[in-house]
Amino acid sequence: MPLEIYNTDYNMLRKKIEQLRETYMQSSDENVRNVVKEQVFYDLCEKIELFENHFAQYFETCKMNSLKEIDELAAEIFKNVSVIKMPKIQYEQIVKRIKMASKNLKEIARNYNETIKQESLTYYSQIIDTKMVFIFFHDDELHTVLCDVSQYNGVRKLHCRFCNSFRQSCEMGFVSNTIKFKKNEYSTLGINCCLDYNKCNQDILETQKLTDFMSYGKNKTKTKGGRK
Ligand SMILES: [Zn+2]
Repeated sequence: MPLEIYNTDYNMLRKKIEQLRETYMQSSDENVRNVVKEQVFYDLCEKIELFENHFAQYFETCKMNSLKEIDELAAEIFKNVSVIKMPKIQYEQIVKRIKMASKNLKEIARNYNETIKQESLTYYSQIIDTKMVFIFFHDDELHTVLCDVSQYNGVRKLHCRFCNSFRQSCEMGFVSNTIKFKKNEYSTLGINCCLDYNKCNQDILETQKLTDFMSYGKNKTKTKGGRK
């Protein structure tokens, strides 16, 4: 049975294996190479539950003596992990949460369900006109946010809050999550993020920023009810 891991863990795994290759090419010192290998193994065990049980022996076998050895380690690991798919959603689940025309919501639900069959994702997003819809699950709970999105011109590089990558500004958007506390009282959280969820999902390593953004203001709106 392959070890089931999250997309964020899978991304980390890819990056760490790449780090092993780079270390091998940059240093001919056997100690350096093995110290990095130990660190990589430790980091992966910290991040991925049961990683040690599944892969300790492969790391033990790999002595960092050749790229072939590292490729074999990588092949064994990737053969024995599978990425947990995001759950399917129904139109009925999102219609109460996202204020949009029902034809748009039906399209979103359909696209989402098609996409998750083929792709390993941490979150899904779709742009409709000037809006961007995010769908994300945290502890099996569905989160959705409908944001305003504005796109950038120019050639500078911008930083994505979710995946931590720098990309050309044409690939990035400024998205804002606005919540209403009470009558005429609004609060907005705006961030830069990738417009292409697919690219973002290949680089995202943790979900904290995503959770913070998606749950922005949720506590405040729940705890209204006068001061004590
Ligand atoms: Zn991103």
